[in-house]
Amino acid sequence: MAFRATVLTLYPEMFPGHLGHSLAGRALERGQWSLEPVQIRDFAEDRHRTVDDTPAGGGAGMVLRADILSRAIDQISKNDDPAIVRPRLLMSPRGRPLTQARVREIAGGPGAVIVCGRFEGVDQRVIDARALEEVSIGDYILSGGEPAALTLLDAVVRILPGVMGNALSGVHESFEGGLLEHPHYTRPQVFEGQEIPAVLTSGNHGAIERWRRAEAERLTRERRPDLLSDASSSQPVTK
Ligand code: SAH
Repeated sequence: MAFRATVLTLYPEMFPGHLGHSLAGRALERGQWSLEPVQIRDFAEDRHRTVDDTPAGGGAGMVLRADILSRAIDQISKNDDPAIVRPRLLMSPRGRPLTQARVREIAGGPGAVIVCGRFEGVDQRVIDARALEEVSIGDYILSGGEPAALTLLDAVVRILPGVMGNALSGVHESFEGGLLEHPHYTRPQVFEGQEIPAVLTSGNHGAIERWRRAEAERLTRERRPDLLSDASSSQPVTK
């Protein structure tokens, strides 16, 4: 069964967005994954299709209502095969920061139900009652969960079986071995006086591997020392 994404949003027209192009778009056309945007507003009950209200306790902005959002979530679950459980994710700056490891887990499953917040966020009671897993894409605030959902899905879809042309790219990448990736070079041989590092054109594959590994370690030490403490406890670098 192909990976199935259902996205709850007030802006279904934002999907598939950039995922309709390039490798993800072609995979979508081929049915290697599917994407169903669901309009949360369709689950409102009043004439104006209101989905939000003012925050209890006062303050700025509006909050997505728990009753409306839970109805939308329940409708999706009702149509799902009960034997196939998809994780329910809520895009949220308060969530656990997304990692390549979590992306791999999600990609290995049957799909995902993704809730996109808007305004100030969603009523806490629906997060608790429907056991939504809060996922953040970084320590900054977006105006809505849609670009965060598209980002998560981009990361997931590109590693689905058969989506990336060259199955080997994806193995050496940043984070996969707990390290940032080494620098890349291609023609021309000289660019504004700068040569390609000689080892890369030496044809010595052992030396090239060692250089790449050393560069990956150097960059990680300089830029993301936090990854090195994780790397020792996780998987070895893939060769
Ligand atoms: N008042 C909230 C921010 C709301 S931003 C707070 O301070 O925590 C509106 C919506 O955008 C959120 O509900 C969430 O769905 C989405 N969003 C914003 N930043 C995000 C991030 N870094 N990661 C994932 N989703 C984010």
